[in-house]
Amino acid sequence: MTLHLLIMGPPEAGKGTQANRLVARFGFLHLATGDMLRALSREDSPRGRQVDELLRRGEYVPDALVTQLVAERMDDRDVLLDGFPRTVAQAQALDALGVPIHCVLVLDVPDETLIARAAHRLFCPNCGAIYSMAANPPRAAGICDVCGHGLAQRVDDAPQTARHRLGVYHQRSEPVIAYYEQRGLVRHIDGQRPIEQVAATLRSVVAELLARRASVA
Ligand code: AMP
Repeated sequence: MTLHLLIMGPPEAGKGTQANRLVARFGFLHLATGDMLRALSREDSPRGRQVDELLRRGEYVPDALVTQLVAERMDDRDVLLDGFPRTVAQAQALDALGVPIHCVLVLDVPDETLIARAAHRLFCPNCGAIYSMAANPPRAAGICDVCGHGLAQRVDDAPQTARHRLGVYHQRSEPVIAYYEQRGLVRHIDGQRPIEQVAATLRSVVAELLARRASVA
């Protein structure tokens, strides 16, 4: 049985950082819609420009577009879905494609902490590594530890946009948690703790899921 895991959390909850670690540890196929859309937004095409505009405003891109990006990349490997589904319509689209979700890992972090984190975040446009100037700085200022590329701030981490994205998350993505909660699939994880502690909890939840699968195989 192929395992389909979903990691969710509000902007700045540490979703990308933790997803990168889980993927490095367990070798899952990593489908991060935010990364795919940032790549698409650099494309010189009408679709690229539309996505760029939406990302700059902190708005979600259309459900059909994101669903297509994910669907065309799925195969029979265990997968960590990172940032998708983000609306109930996307969750329903995944159901319609016959892709079951086996567990939803939700990183819980209060709003005030999230807003403070936005100002400190840097990312590597080349390999996707994520840094925080406060909690997890790169070894050399402005340079990616992993690949040596220059780091950048996300356009949607500007204070106004970060706040707006949080509002969008509450309105459109929290219902997705309720959608999977009805099916008993959600595991809430306290995302306020240091990165390593959150990573350890996630690893043990995932290891438990893999062990359960092995025992029924
Ligand atoms: P992330 O890197 O997951 O924080 O995503 C960055 C931005 O990409 C979000 O604020 C949205 O504008 C867009 N995005 C990512 N995933 C989705 C999705 N599943 N549906 C709609 N928009 C998305």
